[in-house]
Amino acid sequence: MQGTTDGGGEAQGPRDERPWYADGLRFECTQCGNCCSGPPGAVWFDLDEAEAMARAVGVSLEVFLERYTRRIGARRWPEVVETPESWAETKRRTPCPGMDSGPVHPLVEITIGLTGA
Ligand code: SF4
Repeated sequence: MQGTTDGGGEAQGPRDERPWYADGLRFECTQCGNCCSGPPGAVWFDLDEAEAMARAVGVSLEVFLERYTRRIGARRWPEVVETPESWAETKRRTPCPGMDSGPVHPLVEITIGLTGA
C-alpha cells in the first residue's frame, strides 16, 4: 500500500504525528538512468553517500561537493519525501518510473534511510 495523508478525521495524538508515508512507499529502481543520464534529472544523495563518493575519488568532502555536484534549489533527499506533493513532483520532474512502483518499503526502512539510524 502506498503512503497516505491519513485524510483528516478527528483523530488526535501520536497517530497524527505519523508521516504521510507511514504505510510505506513503493519504489523499485528500473535502472532507466533518468536521474543520472539521458534526460535531465538529479541523483539525490545523503551525507554518508557523499563522503563515500569523495573517498572513492580521493578528495575531501568539500572538494567533492564543489567539483562534482550542484545543488538543485533547496532540495535534498529528506525533502523529497517531506510531503506527498514533493514526492509527486520529484517523480514527475526526474521522471522516475521507479517511484510508486515495485515493492513497498516500510516506514522503518524509510526512516533508517533518512536518518541513518
Ligand atoms: S530515475 Fe528512478 S528508476 Fe530511473 S534510474 Fe533513477 S532512481 Fe532508478
